[in-house]
Amino acid sequence: MIRYAKPTTVDEALALLGEDRWRILAGGTDFYPAQGAKPFRDNILDINGLAGLRDIAETDDYWRIGARTTWTDVVRHKLPRAFDALKAAACEVGSVQIQNVASVAGNLCNASPAADGVPALQVVDAEVELRSAKATRYLPLGGFILGNRRTALQPDEMVTAIRVPKRSAVGSSAFVKLGARRYLVISIAMAAARLVIEDGVVADAAIAVGACSAVARRLAGVEAALRGQPVTAALADAVLSAPIDELSPIADVRGSAEYREHAAREIVVRAVCAATSLGEGKVAA
Ligand SMILES: Cc1cc2nc3c(=O)[nH]c(=O)nc-3n(C[C@H](O)[C@H](O)[C@H](O)COP(=O)(O)OP(=O)(O)OC[C@H]3O[C@@H](n4cnc5c(N)ncnc54)[C@H](O)[C@@H]3O)c2cc1C
Repeated sequence: MIRYAKPTTVDEALALLGEDRWRILAGGTDFYPAQGAKPFRDNILDINGLAGLRDIAETDDYWRIGARTTWTDVVRHKLPRAFDALKAAACEVGSVQIQNVASVAGNLCNASPAADGVPALQVVDAEVELRSAKATRYLPLGGFILGNRRTALQPDEMVTAIRVPKRSAVGSSAFVKLGARRYLVISIAMAAARLVIEDGVVADAAIAVGACSAVARRLAGVEAALRGQPVTAALADAVLSAPIDELSPIADVRGSAEYREHAAREIVVRAVCAATSLGEGKVAA
């Protein structure tokens, strides 16, 4: 017989994870669609009783987003402008009803290439906090999400938080999502940009694109091309001429590989312009 448990403390949850195999249930917005009408065969660890994991907190060195924090919680919490991309992504996850129950951590653990939260967290160098009864470890997002629906999560672990180093929570950011329609849509491509601007010049840039590779990727060539540029409309040219080697878009029902590649550059331009005083530009041909 399968087991169902709804612990009320993290220690209790970790003890259960150490003694048996479980599927973790958070908001259920990926969990239940994946289950469909199939009978349940795995034990279910419902983490919705872990009140302490639904929290956004600030320490000396980090912003800490508890694993049960919902997208609506992110939108409502006062955060530095570097999190504007994450807030914008939050508003794009499904509908308000989905945002009210779905967790940021669930989005990462589901490891969909089209997960809207990933690029916005990549541009602030987010790390994932993984706990078991025996240990706590931290992985950068790139070390946690290993591929399409694959993560580094071990059977006795759960994600307890996402943390963002304060040194990366500087500058301003923006997120642009392209779908086949405006609302309630899976991304064809999405881009997040975070820019640090000093004296009218881009001092630092972090750019990430999702849904154009198995795992969303930071674009090192675009970031390098932006650094040192004055904040003028020419920023768009820097993006358009920069090398982008990181993407390997697939063709599917939502778009061809060529379309995705072209669209990715266009939405990076828009995200970069939106993260600056230039506003959201549309400059690509
Ligand atoms: C109608 C609809 C529209 C959607 N639209 C979008 C969209 O536009 N963009 C988008 O990115 N997503 C979308 N989603 C997907 C989903 O809402 C998000 O990925 C959401 O953030 C998942 O969070 P959750 O709390 O519901 O996770 P759950 O469904 O509870 O869990 C998802 C997975 O993560 C695991 N998990 C959850 N929490 C933990 C944890 N703390 N530790 C370890 N494993 C854990 C679960 O075992 C499961 O495998 C949509 C879903 C629906 C149903």
